[in-house]
Amino acid sequence: MKFLREAVRYGYIPFMMLGLTGAAYWVVSQLVVAEGKTWAYALIFPLLVAAYATSLLAERIAPVFPEWNDHGEHGDMLTNTGHIALYELGAINGVLLIPVICWLFPFQGIWPTQWPMWSQVLMAFVVADFAFMFMHYLSHRLPLLWRLHAVHHGVGRLYGYNGVIRHPLHQALDMIVGNMPLVIIGMPVPVAVVLGFLISVTLIVQHSNVDTRLGPLQKHFAIGRIHHMHHVNWGTEGDCNFGLLLTIWDRMFGTYSEKLGREVTAKDMGVDELPNFPKSLWEQLILPWVYVPGKGEPERYKQMAAAKAKTPAQEARDQVLHAAE
Ligand SMILES: [Zn+2]
Repeated sequence: MKFLREAVRYGYIPFMMLGLTGAAYWVVSQLVVAEGKTWAYALIFPLLVAAYATSLLAERIAPVFPEWNDHGEHGDMLTNTGHIALYELGAINGVLLIPVICWLFPFQGIWPTQWPMWSQVLMAFVVADFAFMFMHYLSHRLPLLWRLHAVHHGVGRLYGYNGVIRHPLHQALDMIVGNMPLVIIGMPVPVAVVLGFLISVTLIVQHSNVDTRLGPLQKHFAIGRIHHMHHVNWGTEGDCNFGLLLTIWDRMFGTYSEKLGREVTAKDMGVDELPNFPKSLWEQLILPWVYVPGKGEPERYKQMAAAKAKTPAQEARDQVLHAAE
């Protein structure tokens, strides 16, 4: 068991980011582009299922917080499945829109189609990584965007299965800022498909409850513990580490943090204004219209939670308040 745990700690990220993404790249570059088998795009779906299955398995073997593995207690698997379906449908729609965008903006000559495909994917990912980080930063600064982004932050635990939670409107804005400029200058559909897969896997890995080890590379990637700090629910404590994969942008913006003033615990995730963050998918989808930042929690959430025990976020708040007394 100890060997298995160590293998997961060191092998999880390479398997997900290089192994599964490499498989998706091979499917697209070889089967679709080289051999002309358009149907092979469908193989991306089982690879995505494999990514989620791997994250759930790895979290069993080598968790950061074992309490985050209790799916029954958290009761969010069904809602998160709905979020995954919404997110991936949104991503597919984005790819389907590419021909329309190309028709509207005929500047395709700029894209370096002569480069090897892997380098096109890499360049697209670095540009998208920066754009997503910047959009993420703004989502914490502008109240209108924060209403949408709060849907991602309300969750009481982080694991691979809730990595892609996003309000569909927020996802659309992300894609307009992060992906559309690439499409406008001519990113081809095969590159966009691999990029979309890579972003999904990055979001899964970023939120995975896996005690990963990256050695000296740890501080260069906004995943795992580095990203936990971003989800801390106390005031402005979590206003750091906005990066998707790379931390270089946070270093440039001065928003990078390697350690908070205290140890992050399993109960620290969430939004402090929303201790009774709703569990159902539809309540989460209407959240931006009922939640007013700075005004405290909407009455309806308090009523919904009145009969239940304290939420993890409330317990964490009580602990901090007790410690301060
Ligand atoms: Zn955020």
